[in-house]
Amino acid sequence: MEYRELAERYGTPLYIYDFDRIGENYRRLKGAFKARKSLIAYAVKANSNLSLLKFLGELGSGADCVSIGEVRRALLAGIPHYKVIFSGVGKRDDEIAEAIERDILYINIESEGEFERVQDIAEELGRAMRIGVRVNPNIDPKTHPYISTGLSENKFGVDIEEAKKIYMRAKRSRWVEPVAIHFHIGSQLTELEPIREASALVADLVRQLQGIEIEIKFFDVGGGLGIRYRDEEPIEPYDYAQAILSTLRGTDMTIVCEPGRFLVGNAGVFLTQVLYEKRTPKKRFIIVDGAMNDLLRPSLYNAYHEVEVVGRGGEESLADVVGPVCESGDFLAKDRLLPPTEHGDLLVVKSAGAYGFVMSSNYNSRPRPAEVALQGGEDRLIRERESFEYMIEKEVRFL
Ligand SMILES: *Cc1c(COP(=O)(O)O)cnc(C)c1O
Repeated sequence: MEYRELAERYGTPLYIYDFDRIGENYRRLKGAFKARKSLIAYAVKANSNLSLLKFLGELGSGADCVSIGEVRRALLAGIPHYKVIFSGVGKRDDEIAEAIERDILYINIESEGEFERVQDIAEELGRAMRIGVRVNPNIDPKTHPYISTGLSENKFGVDIEEAKKIYMRAKRSRWVEPVAIHFHIGSQLTELEPIREASALVADLVRQLQGIEIEIKFFDVGGGLGIRYRDEEPIEPYDYAQAILSTLRGTDMTIVCEPGRFLVGNAGVFLTQVLYEKRTPKKRFIIVDGAMNDLLRPSLYNAYHEVEVVGRGGEESLADVVGPVCESGDFLAKDRLLPPTEHGDLLVVKSAGAYGFVMSSNYNSRPRPAEVALQGGEDRLIRERESFEYMIEKEVRFL
């Protein structure tokens, strides 16, 4: 892959995804669960490009969705309805109704109020709906507080007692069929113990439910597998699977796993071009044409992405890589040792395949970047760069 060529062909800033690598990641994780029936339901929110969804769907992947828009994307990309899951803490009535009408695998419920909505809507539609309950096991995942979700102070899921109550109500209901149990304790997890603990707690609940004749078919372990951005030691898929499977003795369930970042994070880069170098008495800034509106993670989470200047050597010195957006929080990297750069040089921002493009915006009236897929040595445009006209389309008729 020649970055210079890709920049000339598609322009910058640009997202580039290595589909072959995504395929390898998928197969590794699927293989790790081979002792059981399993469904890898890709977490669409990590990167919802339709071509990417189609590619994963062809490998056998399902989809974990957190809005009806994501459900529609998954179905449009050819992922079968019986592999689509709808999760998320705030589903609207119309979203629930559409999920039922489209006969997806199940809806993950996150509160008693939501249970009642699903039941009422299913009854109105005259179609019983399969559900899971998202259990919040109150376990510290030891990740960034913004991406921790499994503590009782987080907004997600219900505690074990509340979950039991919902399962009992579901059992008595004609319109809701409890088939799954779900937990997801956080993202970018690099420690196994919290996962094992959460899994053990939830598995206990499954056994208790069995005791009152509620048969759970899907053990949905969420996503969250971490990747290497800098010097993290990611969990091996095999160890991850073993930790979960070791808690499930005496049960016969299909494992559902919802990886987002793990499948696509390291398989994507963000390519941007140097506009200027600027030195103040205190700092060296490399000003590039990509910005926080294109790749938000550094500004939002203070996330680290490795940066490489393409084809440049020379004496390295500390620099901040910043974009043109009018915010001091607009940076892609801080205090990095980088060689001298010139106008037109290319910078590769690595591990940008997950939570990159999907978090982009038009802030500062900047059109969103294009996306390109690499597969079998070929490159292919999978989303056009936005135009100015596209950006203003929803406004002009009110002028
Ligand atoms: C975000 C999310 C995922 C995916 O998380 P990753 O860290 O990208 O693997 C999976 N399941 C649910 C319910 C989520 O909210």
